[in-house]
Amino acid sequence: MLLSRLKEGILIADGAMGTMLQERGLGKGKCPEEWNISHREEVQAIHRAYLEAGCHLILTNTFGGNQFKLKKFGLEDRLHELNIAGAKIAREAIEKFSAPSAGTCRVASGDRNNGRNECHPYVLGDVGPTGEFMEPVGLVKREEFYRVFKKQILALIEGEVDAIIIETMSSLEECQAAIQAAKENNNLPVIVSMSFDPGERGFRTMMGVDIPTVVKGLSETGADVIGANCGRVSLEEMAEVIKEMRTLTDKPLMAQPNAGRPRLIEGRTVYEQSPEGIASEVKALVQAGANIIGGCCGTTPEHMAKIVKAVRAL
Ligand SMILES: [Zn+2]
Repeated sequence: MLLSRLKEGILIADGAMGTMLQERGLGKGKCPEEWNISHREEVQAIHRAYLEAGCHLILTNTFGGNQFKLKKFGLEDRLHELNIAGAKIAREAIEKFSAPSAGTCRVASGDRNNGRNECHPYVLGDVGPTGEFMEPVGLVKREEFYRVFKKQILALIEGEVDAIIIETMSSLEECQAAIQAAKENNNLPVIVSMSFDPGERGFRTMMGVDIPTVVKGLSETGADVIGANCGRVSLEEMAEVIKEMRTLTDKPLMAQPNAGRPRLIEGRTVYEQSPEGIASEVKALVQAGANIIGGCCGTTPEHMAKIVKAVRAL
């Protein structure tokens, strides 16, 4: 399974989904998860590109597949359908397009787990933030967050994901509600990744949570893998975040940097780090203690292919 695979070596997760969907025509203000039904082939083509780049972990196109976010598109009644479809598209992409010898897998082929080759990639059911705030900062009760996450996670499990990834989080309480919803309702591994920004008082999430508090809070709630993704950090700073986490825990760590620090140009957020540039930082991430390396905003299959190559070379 995924957690034992992590003991064999570094695993590579995929890169961005959102920016790739936009490139394929997803309009501004449109629901990305709806494409799991209406543009199934487009979503699967993105998974395919990441699999062919050698990625071991494929995230479902369900980042905003929670009730709060779907409601904004009038799609909350289709939550179940959209999440299951997201999981199935990723699973089918692996069956059709994965090359078992790709990437850095060192497990001898033929080792089997749940009928699947150990070297086959895994489907991670993607759970993003709700966009709402918990009491007392906001109006939503903790139980409500739990209920909302449980609904999405159960749908992803029904779609047969291999693990749950809770990512791009900035509120520890929201994260913990999601972890509990995952852990209390199934026994799949749970990866939890929060987003950090640099500041005078060290790295903090947008909600002001520091790294020691994050590591302690996530560990106590049962996260199997802890990580950092996205955020206004450069690649060097992402390595610093992982390094600090490594001093605080023995759990596997995941780093999913953006393609460089985001820059605002003419009202548009751009990520300018080239595939070569991001790959050159891979060593620093590994030395800092990362066990899974993926990509966030602005990363493409080209970035991930270079990262796979860089990890193999280490
Ligand atoms: Zn991002």
